[in-house]
Amino acid sequence: MSNELKVKFWGVRGSYPTPGAGTVKYGGNTPSVEVQAGNRTIILDAGTGIIPLGRELARTKRAGEILLLLSHMHHDHTQGFPFFVPAYLPNAKLHIYGPDGTHESMKNVLERNQSSETFPLGLRDMASSKDIQAVRESQVVVWDENGVRVVESTSGLSDEAVVIRIHKSYAHPGGVFIYRITWRGKSVVYATDTEGYVGTDKRLVKFAKDADVLIHDAQYLDEHYWGQLEGFPATQGFGHSTVTMACEVAASAQAGQLVLFHHDPSYSDDMLAGMERTAKSLFTNSVAAYEGLEITLRNESMSVQLQTPAMHGRDVQYAQNG
Ligand SMILES: [Zn+2]
Ligand SMILES: [Zn+2]
Repeated sequence: MSNELKVKFWGVRGSYPTPGAGTVKYGGNTPSVEVQAGNRTIILDAGTGIIPLGRELARTKRAGEILLLLSHMHHDHTQGFPFFVPAYLPNAKLHIYGPDGTHESMKNVLERNQSSETFPLGLRDMASSKDIQAVRESQVVVWDENGVRVVESTSGLSDEAVVIRIHKSYAHPGGVFIYRITWRGKSVVYATDTEGYVGTDKRLVKFAKDADVLIHDAQYLDEHYWGQLEGFPATQGFGHSTVTMACEVAASAQAGQLVLFHHDPSYSDDMLAGMERTAKSLFTNSVAAYEGLEITLRNESMSVQLQTPAMHGRDVQYAQNG
């Protein structure tokens, strides 16, 4: 089994998909991130990025058992699921975990997303076996030699266990789950759709403490957030962060690498490149997520592989310690 904990970005855009000439560098698919812990595949969110990921899993025969963690049930985090190829394969087993909604269960929302009025095929028409469960903040999701399950305590688990902790953030309409995936001493925190607080989100900082990789919502330029950018109304209270907020959390939590995530759908590649420069000036190890970005964590060293889509012919790699 591979010793690596690998993170690959398939969809990095917030709110709605954004194809077009102005977004080819960072990509236009909505959130979906693949985490590979050895030979186990964990997927964070089912935005449209999960569609090419699903094809890749089927093509490389990795569509056996898959754990899909949903941060919340907003459209941009679930809209790719009806097109997720492994969900149609009879031999695939999907564990789909996430939060219940305020008024409806998670399972109901998924079923309603594929009701006969809105989609030709229902959940039950998808041939895979599906274990759909709402989880709570106090619970821990575990994947070890005994399979995927939800436990109340991590005592007695083997070193092989992938351990996923949950933090519920209230800084997004309806609330959102933030996940921390740990395997063999390395950890990745996925904090999308959350807004920063004055003086930093202290609960989140505690939850993300010393994470090797922190994927953090950074939807807005500061000027946009505060309504000081021509043509962009203020967005305070919308449940998304600025680059500065993301950098503050990364610095306070002493994260190894910050990945700016959930890019605003109206922002061009040039704007995102500018945000990445700003982020680097506030927190050195920052990168703006783009489709194809891979981060590989192994033992004592971390290597960040930056791979843009082939059409750009750019393939840069750098490594760092710690
Ligand atoms: Zn979102
Ligand atoms: Zn949302």
